[in-house]
Amino acid sequence: MNAPALASVVSGRRREGDEVVADINPATPDEHVATVSLAGPAIAAEAVEAAATAFAAWRDTPAPARGDVLRRAADLVDERADAIGRDLAREEGKTLAEALGETHRAAAILRYYSGQTLEPDGETYPSHSALTFLYARREPLGVVVAITPWNFPIAIPAWKIAPAIAFGNTVVWKPAEIVPLTSTHFATALVDAGLPDGVLNLVLGRGSVVGDTLVAHDRVEAVTFTGSNAVGRAIQLKATEAGKKVQLELGGKNPAVVLADADLELAAEQVARGAFLSAGQKCTATSRVIVEQPVLEELGERVAALARSWPVGDPLDEATKVGPLSSESQLATVSRYLELAEREAARVLAGGGRLDTGGYFVEPTVLADLPATSRVVSEEIFGPVAALLSAGSYEEAVALANDTPFGLTAALFTRDLGKALRFSRDIRAGVVKVNQESAGLEFQAPFGGMRQSSSGSPEQGKVARDFFTQWKTVYLDAPADE
Ligand code: NDP
Repeated sequence: MNAPALASVVSGRRREGDEVVADINPATPDEHVATVSLAGPAIAAEAVEAAATAFAAWRDTPAPARGDVLRRAADLVDERADAIGRDLAREEGKTLAEALGETHRAAAILRYYSGQTLEPDGETYPSHSALTFLYARREPLGVVVAITPWNFPIAIPAWKIAPAIAFGNTVVWKPAEIVPLTSTHFATALVDAGLPDGVLNLVLGRGSVVGDTLVAHDRVEAVTFTGSNAVGRAIQLKATEAGKKVQLELGGKNPAVVLADADLELAAEQVARGAFLSAGQKCTATSRVIVEQPVLEELGERVAALARSWPVGDPLDEATKVGPLSSESQLATVSRYLELAEREAARVLAGGGRLDTGGYFVEPTVLADLPATSRVVSEEIFGPVAALLSAGSYEEAVALANDTPFGLTAALFTRDLGKALRFSRDIRAGVVKVNQESAGLEFQAPFGGMRQSSSGSPEQGKVARDFFTQWKTVYLDAPADE
């Protein structure tokens, strides 16, 4: 990939000794989509300095003018969606339809936060003093580091970077290493829309190489991260020790509870979507399907039938419903869990293996008869694998659903409104969906998990302002009349 000729995109510039890596198509790993020169710590530090230098002018830019840039960027992302979606599908493995949908969603997120720049940014208070005008305003933090994963390589960056910029911060963005083209498209749209130099700085580099420099830099005020629990917790420790504000969006092991009165056709379709779309590589994916015993076999057979019928293959082929896993290491991880399921004598209702194509494909898989304590049932797999668990009652189903250190999303399938309301209170999850798949979020509503799934304030919607700003309270006394 050529160095982007963008003043505010720091990485991409090549220096002596920089590591050069291939950007691989996971459907056909011999195909190199691009060649990328990775940044080291020196470029990462330069990016932070650029963001720090740009902060004062961006903070002082009227919020609606900041919003204008975001709106123009949204239009550019929409205009370029075909090219962006294609590159996204080629380097990440998502189907073209999913990649296009995600790209347009990123544009919609930019547009939404453009609108947020016209919303009130403070409050006034009645003072106990007749002379005092007492008000509080939300001000930007300064330099924010955004570290993002590969699984939603344009939507997740959009829902971090758009509010950060809209509310007056400058950003250093380190995307996942395996999605450099999508990341460059997104940064380029913002720069082409008129974002001043230094407001967004893209660092294409390995987390293990540039992470410490970014997270602990003394000119960085906050870190927003989405990815694995292990990396997230390590970043939290480092950043908190260095006095930064931290927001983490981590993993999930999301349940779908199917009660005996549910519409089983709807439940099966939604469970399959939640478990298998994007090859199960969503933090909100359905991975535990907890079913009331009388309908367990029928529901299992329906989900398995869908798993068997959904075409797995080339993401660019319109007929494909499930693409490959995103990387060789993802394939290795998911394969290990499938071997574990075999050793634990799981009943395989569908799938259970790889496709013999050379790509990183795993069949949509439905497992049954595993104990709730099995690692396959309790650990995040991040692949197209759903495990069925039997419950004797609503109470047992909720207990099983809550039997996890995670708490991101949960789905319930029932026709009973009372049970739906009860479940929405009983379940420990940040997002609850009734008669809908556990995945699929709307950007105007808050998104955050409970327990080990998240830390810090939620993302998206109006509440994004909570993380990306800080309050300043002003007591303003008018001078007394002479
Ligand atoms: P990671 O947590 O390893 O990566 C997420 C981001 O963190 C990437 O940009 C990565 O960069 C970066 N990173 C890695 N190490 C460091 C570090 N030491 N300092 C700073 N940044 C770092 O997740 P993976 O992509 O490897 O996925 C592994 C697992 O994470 C999945 O199987 C899944 O369980 C979970 N996951 C959860 C997601 C969610 O939405 N909640 C999203 C993606 C993954 P680099 O790519 O260069 O390593």
